[in-house]
Amino acid sequence: MIRAMGVHKTYGQGDGAVRALRGLDLEIDEAGFFAIMGPSGSGKTTLLHLLAGLDRPDGGEIHVAGKRIDTLSERELTMFRREDVGIVFQQFNLIPTMTALQNVELPGVLAKRDGAWLRSRASGLLERLGVDDRAAHRPDAMSGGEQQRVAIARAMLFEPRVILADEPTGNLDSDSSRALWGLLAELSRERGMSVVMVTHEPAAATHCSRVFAVQDGVCTGSFATESLDESGVAAEYQRAVGA
Ligand code: ADP
Ligand code: MG
Repeated sequence: MIRAMGVHKTYGQGDGAVRALRGLDLEIDEAGFFAIMGPSGSGKTTLLHLLAGLDRPDGGEIHVAGKRIDTLSERELTMFRREDVGIVFQQFNLIPTMTALQNVELPGVLAKRDGAWLRSRASGLLERLGVDDRAAHRPDAMSGGEQQRVAIARAMLFEPRVILADEPTGNLDSDSSRALWGLLAELSRERGMSVVMVTHEPAAATHCSRVFAVQDGVCTGSFATESLDESGVAAEYQRAVGA
């Protein structure tokens, strides 16, 4: 489902150049819920942006949802972003002037999809995410947890095989965070999606089946979280980053 091979990404040039990714390898070949953990500045967001086709690597190969995306044309990449992956951000990124339902429908409106299909698909997703009672509300009338559920519904509009989430609970309280992790785990099983979440919280990773540790622009290792509790994850993570 996801394969990154020797991926490099440098921002800027000369003395100011920052080597964000330095030959990163990562492979996820099944559906499920996965965590990427690493210190601030280690390249996690850069990696997620490259996997989402929001930016291009300087070197290496990236395969996502059955496509090699680092060589796609701009036009193909736009289609890929719309149809094959869903992206969820820490700041929710909902349009403040639109209702929850309109936010979920928006990618379909931009893609000129049939209105009736869109309405029923978006309503069904809001219901599955437990926020159908918020369908007519704007984001400022919703809690953070509700806004993030709406953002996840939007990311799922075209039934992508891969969902990428960058610290999705960074703005949520601990109860809402736990509920969201549980929901992402359920959705990945139920829909056969790979959900890849960047997080710095070991508690989040206990809901995942595997953790990938990223440090200084490379993936230094991964470990299964089956039967690990929060402190077990923290200990395995320290081992994986070689601390
Ligand atoms: P993380 O998400 O793990 O905190 P990032 O991928 O955001 O890490 O950043 C990795 C490195 O690249 C950091 O040193 C960061 O300052 C740098 N960086 C990220 N984005 C940019 C950018 N657009 N321009 C310049 N440097 C950047
Ligand atoms: Mg980041």
